[in-house]
Amino acid sequence: MDTIEKKILARIDARREEIIAFGRDLFDHGELGYKEYRTAGRFAQVLDGLGIPHEDGLALTGVKGRLKPQADGPVVALIGEMDALRIPGHPHYNPETQGAHCCGHNAQMAGIVGAAMGLCDPEIMQALEGNVLFFAVPSEEYGEVEFKNSLMAQGKIRYGGGKSELLRIGAFDEVDMAVTHHASNIGTAIGGGTSNAFVSKVITYTGRAAHAAGAPHEGINALHAAMLGLSALAYQRETFRDEDHVRIHPILTQGGDLVNVVPDCAVVETLVRAKTVEALRHADAVVDRAFRSGAMGLGAKVRIDTVPGYLSTLPLERLQALEAAARTAIGGEPTVLDPRGHNNASTDVGDLCHVMPTFCFNTGRVTGTGHGTDYAMGDEYEAYIVTAKIFALTAYHLLRDGAVEAQRVKESYHPVFTLEAYRGFMDSFIRTETVDYETVDYGN
Ligand SMILES: [Zn+2]
Ligand SMILES: [Zn+2]
Repeated sequence: MDTIEKKILARIDARREEIIAFGRDLFDHGELGYKEYRTAGRFAQVLDGLGIPHEDGLALTGVKGRLKPQADGPVVALIGEMDALRIPGHPHYNPETQGAHCCGHNAQMAGIVGAAMGLCDPEIMQALEGNVLFFAVPSEEYGEVEFKNSLMAQGKIRYGGGKSELLRIGAFDEVDMAVTHHASNIGTAIGGGTSNAFVSKVITYTGRAAHAAGAPHEGINALHAAMLGLSALAYQRETFRDEDHVRIHPILTQGGDLVNVVPDCAVVETLVRAKTVEALRHADAVVDRAFRSGAMGLGAKVRIDTVPGYLSTLPLERLQALEAAARTAIGGEPTVLDPRGHNNASTDVGDLCHVMPTFCFNTGRVTGTGHGTDYAMGDEYEAYIVTAKIFALTAYHLLRDGAVEAQRVKESYHPVFTLEAYRGFMDSFIRTETVDYETVDYGN
């Protein structure tokens, strides 16, 4: 360990209680995607306290701090996701915001706060031959599809994922590489494989209201149309190939207002996920066909709004800087995850991977179920402090000695998309389709 590494670790240890308190505070005040105003404010406050300049309100709530106001050399972004999930049964559920941190994003935030505290020192900054960004990003969880669609309709965002939207608006333009973190139950780990890509849909069935018992023949039951669409989709499941990892998990968000009235509106939200773009496009079309059939069967109207979700993560090279940082932070060997592994879930870290070198590590020894009511930080020291240390040391390892490692990473990476191509790809999924089977002339 060199003197700078020692100093970084000592600075983080000295503010250990403060960093843990920050992580706990967020755990008690979870906020949902694109609504993380308090979280962003708390983060901005810490940056202010350290004298780190920052831009706020990026993609509504994002906050980007720059360790140095200006610097030559590579720019490394340390990423912290801000959003939580709506899980009312969780003991730390916040009824005011409807958020609970059942995915542990609060640990990412504590990590970048601690890294900022560790690196914000003249001697350390001088040893970094490039710049470090502390980037608090909105909306990684893909919930509240209708809310996101309303933000899109108002022109406040175009893409549902926070990183996707930040890429779109150019907030990552200055960034050469990104380091991300996720809490996990396996202790400190680095690397990883692929994840699913997805699109998001809202399917709105419109029927006609009538007395449910006195005159159902005068109505068109939108709930029944939705159920028929869901059944058609269920019958499709066996047709998806195992290797495509298709996952479709609809929920019904509206299915009637009053029990003695034929429901004239039913709304289904779903994500459609698959491992590859080709499989995703196929599943996307099959799902639309199934939902159309529900409206056709009942003579209802259906509107299908589709927007792009996230791209799949790519298995990138093992980052030596991250491995060395993890080793120093824990005083042992981190677990190295199999790059051939596949996760059927999705993350907008995938979008970053397609545009810039992006590396991930895990810490936390969390207990309970991810996205479940019993989810908890099993080891706060590891979740918050080790995370901060790995973030800070990785930035140092990338940028020390003429930033030679960061330069090597930059040169060996070949982006899948330019930013313009990325936007074009994302936009190719956006569409609204309306079919009204009530007015279809069947020729009889
Ligand atoms: Zn999650
Ligand atoms: Zn997560």
